[in-house]
Amino acid sequence: MVIEVISMNVAKIKERIADAAIKAGRKPEEIKIVAATKTRTLEEMIAVAKSGVYAIGENRVQEAMAKKNSWPEDVRIPWHFIGTLQRNKARKAIDIFDCIQSVNSSTLADTLQRIAKEKNKKLECMVEVNISGEESKQGVDPGDVEALVEHVLNDCDCLKLIGLMGMAPLTEKEFEIRRSFALLRELCSKLEESLQIRLPELSMGMSDDFEYAIMEGSTMVRIGTALFGPRR
Ligand SMILES: *Cc1c(COP(=O)(O)O)cnc(C)c1O
Repeated sequence: MVIEVISMNVAKIKERIADAAIKAGRKPEEIKIVAATKTRTLEEMIAVAKSGVYAIGENRVQEAMAKKNSWPEDVRIPWHFIGTLQRNKARKAIDIFDCIQSVNSSTLADTLQRIAKEKNKKLECMVEVNISGEESKQGVDPGDVEALVEHVLNDCDCLKLIGLMGMAPLTEKEFEIRRSFALLRELCSKLEESLQIRLPELSMGMSDDFEYAIMEGSTMVRIGTALFGPRR
């Protein structure tokens, strides 16, 4: 897609974010855009990075590695991993990404911890929660979140837990979508209370549902199609 169109799309999304935030009685600057860049070209990614999004979000380690290797040094932006991470890709992922949004088991947390320690790195991460109840969706079950979060806090000193990530069910029903986002927000506040911690980030909302996510407290929306058009 043409560069000018991408920066126009970023501006449009920012307007929609601001409208949704104000409607919800929130400040627009509380919400960051992560550009979901799977299948997009390097040129498209550089254009979006220069248009003022907060981070790049990639789903596949292999694809991200190829892109990161050709990334221009003067374009600085955090890289977030938003896909499903296989443990045998953890080492590469740690080299590429500043934040892993999809920590969904204690074994994955342990692997990331071990490698981060070896590399003397502190790695930002988020716990991915299955808020949709759909079998096909990734993430830890809501009932198991607290145990995983406690494990990360107590046993993974090289991981810096910044929040929770989740995906709404595939439905048109506003009520169902908002209920699942509300669930993530409630889980987050409960954890903050019971563990006496701060979890500032709620990564939820995509092209089709980010306004609902913002109304339910999202601080990070992950947008692909609405920025770049349909995926090839
Ligand atoms: C692709 C993807 C998105 C963005 O999806 P769109 O509907 O294109 O905005 C967000 N989050 C994850 C985890 C994704 O894989």
